[in-house]
Amino acid sequence: MKTAALPLIALLATGCAGPIAASPEARTTQYLASIRGRTAFETVFVREMPKGGELHTHLSGAVYAESYLRWAAEDGLCARRSPPSIVDPPCDPARGDVSGAAIALDVPLYRALVDGFSMRNFPYATGSGHDHFFDTFERFDARRERYGDMLAEVVSRLARQNTRYVEVMQSLGVGGANRLGREAGWSDDLAVMSTRVPESAVAAVVADARQRMDAQEARMRALLRCGQAGEDPGCGVTLRYLVQMIRTVPREEVFAQAVAAVAIIEADPRAVGLNLVAPEDDPVAVRDYRDHMRVIDHVTRHGTRVNVALHAGELTPSLVTPEVASDHVRLAVELAGARRIGHGTDIAWEHDARGTLAMMASRGVAVEHCLRSADAILGLRGAEHPWGLYREAGVAQVLCTDDEGVSRTDLSREYLLALQSFGLGWTELKTLARNALSHSFLPGATLWERGSINAACRSEVPGAERPGEGCARWLAGSERAREQWRLEASLRRFEAMW
Ligand SMILES: [Zn+2]
Repeated sequence: MKTAALPLIALLATGCAGPIAASPEARTTQYLASIRGRTAFETVFVREMPKGGELHTHLSGAVYAESYLRWAAEDGLCARRSPPSIVDPPCDPARGDVSGAAIALDVPLYRALVDGFSMRNFPYATGSGHDHFFDTFERFDARRERYGDMLAEVVSRLARQNTRYVEVMQSLGVGGANRLGREAGWSDDLAVMSTRVPESAVAAVVADARQRMDAQEARMRALLRCGQAGEDPGCGVTLRYLVQMIRTVPREEVFAQAVAAVAIIEADPRAVGLNLVAPEDDPVAVRDYRDHMRVIDHVTRHGTRVNVALHAGELTPSLVTPEVASDHVRLAVELAGARRIGHGTDIAWEHDARGTLAMMASRGVAVEHCLRSADAILGLRGAEHPWGLYREAGVAQVLCTDDEGVSRTDLSREYLLALQSFGLGWTELKTLARNALSHSFLPGATLWERGSINAACRSEVPGAERPGEGCARWLAGSERAREQWRLEASLRRFEAMW
């Protein structure tokens, strides 16, 4: 972190500052208040602030269009003009295909491809942001060998924003699991389903997923030159995975995906949980939603076998029917046992919203807000967003990007948007950063309990480089607490700058 630049900005911005506050936290609060409404200053502030972690990012959507186009050129793939997309060779001139190498030389095509792969320049007045957003995923593609490049882009970008923990969502083993599901067929009796898709059947899927993680991480580390002089700061990011299941396929395939996801998570500590993805308003996803929740409840034993995070309530009552937008968050928490809810933007329209919010607060279920994504897909922003509803109910909130490449955002811009949309102060921003680790799926006890530090470390300076013996021993026993301790050190350095 650059330690010289910000105090200068502080000096420039706080010409009229009053008496200097006593504690570093109070001084940081004072500084942030002094730059309120000055976007450039606030941008520098949120970029440099330690943001704890990123818990909701889809690997393929996190990559910027420009990277996909560069790899298409290097890997000999083709670009198609309509719809703008990357396709496998041979390039078909009859369909207007050009070779990857020629993309950068054709500026109008290059611009159309970047716009076609993302929300850049999207004409919201005349088109559906929702449809364009989800359509982009059919357009960009990269060879399997590029997944290490994709991870390198994600962790390097996070590290440059002073953020050192990420749970990346990736479809690990979906293809193999779907085949097993098709062979099994569906039964409403999930005990019968478990006999048709036993865990032993997914052993090859698990082995392939683990081999994939090994290979892509080796490529990522090589690209970032980890362990060598001048390594990329991304090497310092702790990388974990959420196994991504797809909700738009037949129920029996979703069942097999769940079995495979649990098996992968139990076999490999790098995979820390599962999630269920793809448009929630898709007709199959709508029809089968309750069955999907039953499947996850059954296979994960209500989230006790493995950690469950679910996209739920990423809807509005006009995108679907009011009835459909009435219970998805509730079912994800109550029936499936989710510990984190992705989006949850329909909450105000759900039956017994107060009851669901109270349930989330009492069970410690967090909500993952992806503000730019909610705006692009659902048109929810500012006062239309249920941020305040969750906050006042005492539900833990975290900020995430969802698909930073598609949305043309990053975690800092999400913090900036929250800061400006909801008038957040420093202590609220700091809580958001801490929540990202408290509600991560890392194993071990949490450093923070009901707003105070665990007794083993309470007498220490949070984040101290050499904590006392008792605290050090306690930290050694918890991966989560060690990551939280590292964040406290970053927060202390950040607050000391003002
Ligand atoms: Zn998502």
